[in-house]
Amino acid sequence: MSGINDDIKLIDENGIRIDGRKADEMRPLKIEAGVLKRADGSAYLEWGKNKVIAAVYGPRECHPRHMQDPAKAIVQCRYNMMSFSVSDRKRPGPDRRSIEISKIISEALEYVVFTENFPRTSIDVYIEVLQANAGTRVAGLTAASAALADAGIPMKDLVPAVAVGKADGHVVLDLNKEEDNFGSADLPMAMIPRTGEVLLMQMDGHLTMEEFDKGIEYAKKACQEIYEIQKDALRRRYADQGGSDETDDEFSSIDEEA
Ligand code: ADP
Repeated sequence: MSGINDDIKLIDENGIRIDGRKADEMRPLKIEAGVLKRADGSAYLEWGKNKVIAAVYGPRECHPRHMQDPAKAIVQCRYNMMSFSVSDRKRPGPDRRSIEISKIISEALEYVVFTENFPRTSIDVYIEVLQANAGTRVAGLTAASAALADAGIPMKDLVPAVAVGKADGHVVLDLNKEEDNFGSADLPMAMIPRTGEVLLMQMDGHLTMEEFDKGIEYAKKACQEIYEIQKDALRRRYADQGGSDETDDEFSSIDEEA
């Protein structure tokens, strides 16, 4: 987010955003659970132009051992953006931003997992952003919590997440890239709809108290919507089991021959 840019009009006189959405409208979201055979749990997500995959391994013995907690499991998340996920090639490997995002996602997930059931273990969560268009941390967290559930890891609840912000003086839900770049506030958050618990909240820019309240209202409603999509993905995964994986089977026969 680089501040207000007067040359770019993000919202027209009818309150419609550059991608045709209303202020409180989310980009289309699709989630598919159980997309990877080798991982214990996985989920693939497309949210507007974002494409994200999450894979979960564990609980498994935590290495290095000095990181083990004798009382509970630790949740270690690695968020990574592929070099080809953004318009200019991104330098591969961790950077300040990805380390920060990995940390906040680990903390949000650690809150929902019943970590005390698995002492000395690690639950490893890998988030790969294949294509980025703003909101990848909330997309990553949304995919990762579905992947944890797909792995059968006992948890309090799923963690839907979404960003709200401000563009051209309007509070808007689920910022796209232009709104993220040229808008004046970005507020990603994650909330368990059932309990109202907030597991992630960051803020970049400025909002008045009224704008903040309106943003939270938008985010609350959206989290409920995202939560239903997450649950539906998991339901489909188990309803489909037996007959699904046609493509997978084709690939697995190649694997076996190799
Ligand atoms: P989020 O993806 O959670 O919104 P940011 O606000 O930091 O996180 O980033 C906003 C968007 O900026 C990203 O979704 C991505 O499209 C773009 N972006 C982030 N890092 C880079 C980078 N190194 N190079 C190019 N674009 C980037």
